[in-house]
Amino acid sequence: NNIAKADILRQAFQDDIRYVRLQFTDLHGTLKNVEIPVNQLAEALDGKIMFDGSSIHGFVRIEESDMYLQPDLSTWLMLPFSPDGIKIARLICNISLPDGTPFSADPRGILQRVIHEAKELGFDEYRIGVELEFFLLKLDDRKKPTVQPNDQGGYFDIAPTDAGENCRRDIVLTLQQLGIAVASSHHETAPGQHEIDLHAADALTVADHITTLKMVARTISRIHGLHATFMPKPLQDEDGSGLHCHLSLGRSKENAFYHVGDQYHLSPVARSFIAGLLFHAPAITAITNPLVNSYKRLIPGYEAPAYTFWSTSHRMPFVRVPSATDTPTDTQIELRSPDASCNPYLAFAAILKAGLDGVSNRMCPPDPIHHSLVTMSEDERFQYQITPLPTSLEQAIEALEENEIIQDALGMHAFSHYLQAKLWEWEQYRKTVHPWELDHYLERY
Ligand code: GLU
Ligand code: MG
Ligand code: MG
Repeated sequence: NNIAKADILRQAFQDDIRYVRLQFTDLHGTLKNVEIPVNQLAEALDGKIMFDGSSIHGFVRIEESDMYLQPDLSTWLMLPFSPDGIKIARLICNISLPDGTPFSADPRGILQRVIHEAKELGFDEYRIGVELEFFLLKLDDRKKPTVQPNDQGGYFDIAPTDAGENCRRDIVLTLQQLGIAVASSHHETAPGQHEIDLHAADALTVADHITTLKMVARTISRIHGLHATFMPKPLQDEDGSGLHCHLSLGRSKENAFYHVGDQYHLSPVARSFIAGLLFHAPAITAITNPLVNSYKRLIPGYEAPAYTFWSTSHRMPFVRVPSATDTPTDTQIELRSPDASCNPYLAFAAILKAGLDGVSNRMCPPDPIHHSLVTMSEDERFQYQITPLPTSLEQAIEALEENEIIQDALGMHAFSHYLQAKLWEWEQYRKTVHPWELDHYLERY
């Protein structure tokens, strides 16, 4: 998509665009935007729109808080929702410093940097397809979200059991209008739980799409009197919501994960990539599962991974290799641990870095596991090199603090801000007295 500045200016005029949203995300993946009247568009396209970075999470710099928005022209799009018929377009932006150098803690820039490292190793494509799970919850009289799911449906249910059908369809239709190719959508296992799957595309585009999708889901669900949440585990005794990522690398237009002779059609590159993911699992978890609540999803019994192993048949591995169809384009590996509360730019960067480290060091994964872990003894787990994923945000942060490779994916500036924010979050949680403690201790002790 090689759209030029002149094309955008012409289109804005032809479509009677009045405002343009210049979008970017903070370190935690929260979508931010500066809205400009269309007469400022030419300046914006030249990267001349400035904002104060010091009030954006993770951007703080003492000396230089002036930052510039550098729009990615290929993301130009007219938004389908317009208040009072006023037409609005958006551009997704990178962030630069006043001297024009990229800002090192810009999440989009961080992903681009690691994608560039992959290119230097000969991998010119990093493709990701995602499954986004979320809950549709009822609102109370004051329009605040409750923990009441909007229906009691289950896996693949249809209306009237699936009462979220219309809302989900409206979300999907809006995404299509925004140029986001939705592969499919369905009711998930838990009451009120839904899933939208996006076709594989280059990682940067998919990360852009995920931030857009979350915004759309929240906006459209409100029109249906519901709240859409991507919180990983909102209902204690039900499945949580994941963000399964289907990954592959391309090399000179070929799928570098495919190998015709292999039992699972996996190339040595794919196997080493898997080994890198397994090796760096604890540290990347700090980024792919960023909330205190994320760790309440990563427990056995709810279709989410709790241990690091890979499989071609098991239902709950960390990495799953979907059944091989022996077509080069389909060969991919599915990372099942991430949840959609992550910042997709940072998560995709950390995942790629981990996999590339496996490839560069020609790491070999242990054998895939095909049987249940429930009956496995500690010794057997050790023998198969199965280790638990971090069980708390604190453990994950500790792993990240010890892992220079994954820190390097973020860069020092982003890493230190991320660390500070997560330590603070853990500390707030740790000193809170939770209802469980009152239930169990108040009367007994
Ligand atoms: N909701 C499950 C999770 O937490 C995944 C269910 C599925 O396999 O789609 O990851
Ligand atoms: Mg699912
Ligand atoms: Mg899946």
